[in-house]
Amino acid sequence: MRGFDRGARSWYARPAMSPPPDTLLGSSIKEVLFTAEDIAAKVQELGRGLTEHYRGRRPLVVGILTGCFPFIADLVRAMDIELEVDFMSVSSYGAGTKSSGVVRFLKDLDQPIEGRDVLLVEDIIDTGLTLKYLTEALHTRKPASIQICALLDKQAGRTQNVEVQWRGFDCPDAFVVGYGLDYSGAYRNLPYVGVLDPSVYKGE
Ligand code: 5GP
Repeated sequence: MRGFDRGARSWYARPAMSPPPDTLLGSSIKEVLFTAEDIAAKVQELGRGLTEHYRGRRPLVVGILTGCFPFIADLVRAMDIELEVDFMSVSSYGAGTKSSGVVRFLKDLDQPIEGRDVLLVEDIIDTGLTLKYLTEALHTRKPASIQICALLDKQAGRTQNVEVQWRGFDCPDAFVVGYGLDYSGAYRNLPYVGVLDPSVYKGE
């Protein structure tokens, strides 16, 4: 782990979380894990570290769709260097809360990456299956480097050995939504990350 991560609070060390705001979407959230302010501060911290790391190298910042969209938008604006942005789309989840265990390739990059410094930006890493599949596929294209930046890391779910160089928060082993993360397509527009009330997906 890099220096920026030393200050990251473990989930278990955090004080009790605030209840969700009394809003339409908030009524489906059991508890807020990371507020919009927590996330904004973490993104700035990651951006500072990435700026130092990639200074003078014009990295290709690759968002893994769809959940990455608020994170990558905020992250690249926190990086004070020349960079390029591209997107890939793979899916290991169906419409529910459990991984299907099978990674499907839905959209490839628009450009070759030979000799490029590639930074993969992911909303959350759980089993590690998605990023393992992606990094192995991209390494065959001979990039200069590949690093991973994940906002949330659900370490309890890990089944694959994946090196995450840039990590925002430790995430408890619960199904979370918000700040890009969905349940059945909804909740991506919540400005915070929270645990979905199980009553929402009861009977799945
Ligand atoms: P992995 O392949 O590491 O098991 O899972 C990565 C992908 O699974 C993420 O990009 C995300 O789309 C989805 N995912 C994993 N955990 C969660 C979660 O708690 N909530 C949501 N909404 N998606 C998740």
